[in-house]
Amino acid sequence: MECPICGSDDIEILNSKQKSSKKKLIEEYLLKCEDCGHVFKDIFSAKKPQPYRLIISEQDKSHKTTIELSPSDELEAGDVLLSDLGQVEVTSIEVGDTRVDKALIEDIDTIWAVSVEIPARIGFSVDLHGEVDSYKVDLERDFKIAPGDVVKIDKHIVRVHVIKTQDRKLTSGFAKAGVIKRVYSKPVRFNNYDYDLTKDIVKKTS
Ligand SMILES: [Zn+2]
Repeated sequence: MECPICGSDDIEILNSKQKSSKKKLIEEYLLKCEDCGHVFKDIFSAKKPQPYRLIISEQDKSHKTTIELSPSDELEAGDVLLSDLGQVEVTSIEVGDTRVDKALIEDIDTIWAVSVEIPARIGFSVDLHGEVDSYKVDLERDFKIAPGDVVKIDKHIVRVHVIKTQDRKLTSGFAKAGVIKRVYSKPVRFNNYDYDLTKDIVKKTS
């Protein structure tokens, strides 16, 4: 900012107003030059975030959604965005009929991305009367586990007793894998179970 009369950049802000139209955020300033005393107005405007079409592929499915982005920014393949379906990585950008690697967001018609939402890694302990078999298990973040569930894991069939989440211990209700730290279980003499986590084991830690 400088004074249009004397060129000084010693400017005092006397007043400022914010206005908002459909597409723009406008800031209007009333300014005074500290050197020559000239009073003048200046206006700054920025484009408001707008919704853009986003197609997210995940394994063999794809999801259509929209994402709010600032039109004056640039987007590039490889950028990571936080969508309503979790974190996604941009793979391609459609501008008109062509696919490009990089574009000014206001020119974009469709953003193509892949889901990079990482699975939740939880601990799973099987209490064997003094000894404990302990596993690390990778699960979809919204996979639900409830105390009382009968689970097959490795060579055990167990019942879930306690679920430790980020902030509490559950003995009833349920929790999603995304917030679970560790599941505590004890073997039961059943042949049937609610689900099998054997294929989700990443490693056995004891
Ligand atoms: Zn001046």
